[in-house]
Amino acid sequence: MFVDKAKIKIKAGNGGDGAISFHREKYVAAGGPDGGNGGKGGDVIFVADDNFSSLIDFRYKRKYVAENGQNGGAKRCTGKSAPDLIIKVPRGTIIRNADTGRIMADISTDEPQVLARGGNGGRGNCNFATSTRQIPRFAKPGYPGEEFDISLELKLIADVGLVGFPNVGKSTLISAVSAAKPKIANYHFTTLTPVLGVVKVNEEKSFVMADIPGLIEGASDGVGLGHEFLRHVERCRLIVHVLDVSGTEGRDPIEDFDIINAELQNFSEDLAKCPQIVAANKCDMADEEQINRLKNFIEEKGMKFFVISAATTHGTKELINAVAGELEKLPPVREYKPEPITQEEIEEKALSNTKFEIEKEGNIYFVDAKWLDPIMRTINMDDYSSLQYFQQVLRKSGIIDKLESMGINEGDTVNIMGFEFDYVR
Ligand code: GDP
Ligand code: MG
Repeated sequence: MFVDKAKIKIKAGNGGDGAISFHREKYVAAGGPDGGNGGKGGDVIFVADDNFSSLIDFRYKRKYVAENGQNGGAKRCTGKSAPDLIIKVPRGTIIRNADTGRIMADISTDEPQVLARGGNGGRGNCNFATSTRQIPRFAKPGYPGEEFDISLELKLIADVGLVGFPNVGKSTLISAVSAAKPKIANYHFTTLTPVLGVVKVNEEKSFVMADIPGLIEGASDGVGLGHEFLRHVERCRLIVHVLDVSGTEGRDPIEDFDIINAELQNFSEDLAKCPQIVAANKCDMADEEQINRLKNFIEEKGMKFFVISAATTHGTKELINAVAGELEKLPPVREYKPEPITQEEIEEKALSNTKFEIEKEGNIYFVDAKWLDPIMRTINMDDYSSLQYFQQVLRKSGIIDKLESMGINEGDTVNIMGFEFDYVR
């Protein structure tokens, strides 16, 4: 099975927590704070790897989590930063935010790309000593690593795409002009996966050709094979439209030509605009009249027309030279630019980070807020400034407002994930 689409979850590592610690030494009474900072969480990084040609691995493993940074230690020891998580994908993989569809990256160059950033470490209490606060009994928790549901979509990188009905000879053509060896057989849909071949024009020049499974009428509406594969021609700079000029299968190549172009048009405006060269294949089985009829039709449209026989390689050299000549005039293979993050996505992320639920049972208000957990662990409830910071967090996240709107009274109990305290206004 050829897999060119997948949906996975990625999560960068959280930063380590800052430490709360005080310098201790024999004969030294009150040492200063010496809690070190937490280490940075690992990033999630994507790189192109030409050893991979499909996204099949991502069907089996769907969650990719980078390690967290280490917590800070005593004696100003900074926690170790976690290693990055490197994910290898086939060249040409486009990554989108699965929730919004926004393009986040196009992994088509050798440049590694960071898709989720690890959280920075929290600062240890050694950072918080001031002239008025000499004994800071608190430190900051590490920041959470970024987390996304993403969709991966492979769009092969090829200069030229072969397009045409099943059985017109596309696979035969690519194997005649390159080292690619796709399956060839006299029945429809023998090609079930796209195949790339490097076509050598001369010592210095070559280009990449893609053989994609044959298109059938209705392919762009998702009927049968075809539609799924059209995305692999989307980056192509030039389409070689292969027709069976001999009409051996009882079809008319002129009709075929129109049907395929309608399919391209239905799939995308861009594909329909992609320049085309026509290769009239199986000329060994066609008579002159058949060839001339098609030639006139195509040339009237202002398109280049080549008579070939992929099986005997008649005319393929001329076709390849013409393709190479056209490519020189065309812009390079299309790259998909990452789209800027939208305001909506930013807000959604901010909200999802401080989501909470409050339930009331008797006079106890139970607050459920997972994101508060790391903060709670570093709060020292006996320390005034630490508590102040905690209150600030509760206020900023809207928890206090919510408690008040639920009618909380002075002296009622608030339970935040197991930790209880009295509500004071
Ligand atoms: P695809 O489905 O477009 O990839 O077509 P294939 O390359 O698999 O070819 C389909 C059939 O047409 C096979 O039996 C080939 O041997 C045959 N074929 C391909 N090119 C030619 C040609 O130039 N002349 C003749 N007579 N048969 C050909
Ligand atoms: Mg084929």
